[in-house]
Amino acid sequence: MSRVFRLLTIVLLALAAVSCQPSGPLYDDMRQMRYMSQSRGPLSPQAMLQEVRLVPDMVPKGRHGRRVFRRLDPRYITVHSTQNYSTQADARQHALALKRGALKAPRRKNGNRIGYLIWHFSVDDRMVVQHMPTYEQGEHADFDGPGNRYSIGIEMCENRGGHLAITVDRTAKLCAILMKQYNIPLQNVVPHYHWERRGVNPPHKDCPNFLMDNGRPGARWRLFQQLVDAHYRRLQQHG
Ligand SMILES: [Zn+2]
Repeated sequence: MSRVFRLLTIVLLALAAVSCQPSGPLYDDMRQMRYMSQSRGPLSPQAMLQEVRLVPDMVPKGRHGRRVFRRLDPRYITVHSTQNYSTQADARQHALALKRGALKAPRRKNGNRIGYLIWHFSVDDRMVVQHMPTYEQGEHADFDGPGNRYSIGIEMCENRGGHLAITVDRTAKLCAILMKQYNIPLQNVVPHYHWERRGVNPPHKDCPNFLMDNGRPGARWRLFQQLVDAHYRRLQQHG
């Protein structure tokens, strides 16, 4: 009797473990990429930077989202996703929109500080485009809160026709490079959800949407953290 009970317990635990695993092609690809990274050797930050294909395409200093200079000493990395599914909405297109000053936001007390949205990097399945220097604060997370004051903002593009798993892997590598550069621990690589937006309902945004479970961090976000960690470990092994 007790043996049957034990067996039943084991089966139930196994079922629970499987059901907690995010399922679907994207998450299968992420697990595969984590596995591949774990099985590869040390890599220098320069080599990983080449892999992500960083293309600077800055908003001009003093204009639009960069009209006010506020110094940033990065302590966090905030990960977003655009939820823009148009085929054109890739990293280059976001750079164009930011440079045109097309991404406006209502400027208000305790709200958006400059009247524009801006973040540091947009990532798609081909490249990383940088919009502003990492020593300058963006406007992407929580208005005048710590998310904007202390974090580097990264947007993952979700353009239709793009390979989202490659975009996620490239984002994870970019996070690893920035962690190494600024001595940022893995726990400070956070989803936009992490930051409370005062005066907005809901205060915690369901972002990056496709890495949240029921609108908040869960198994999918943990899988992303594991992918970042796998890339970071290769940089650490390099010394
Ligand atoms: Zn966001």
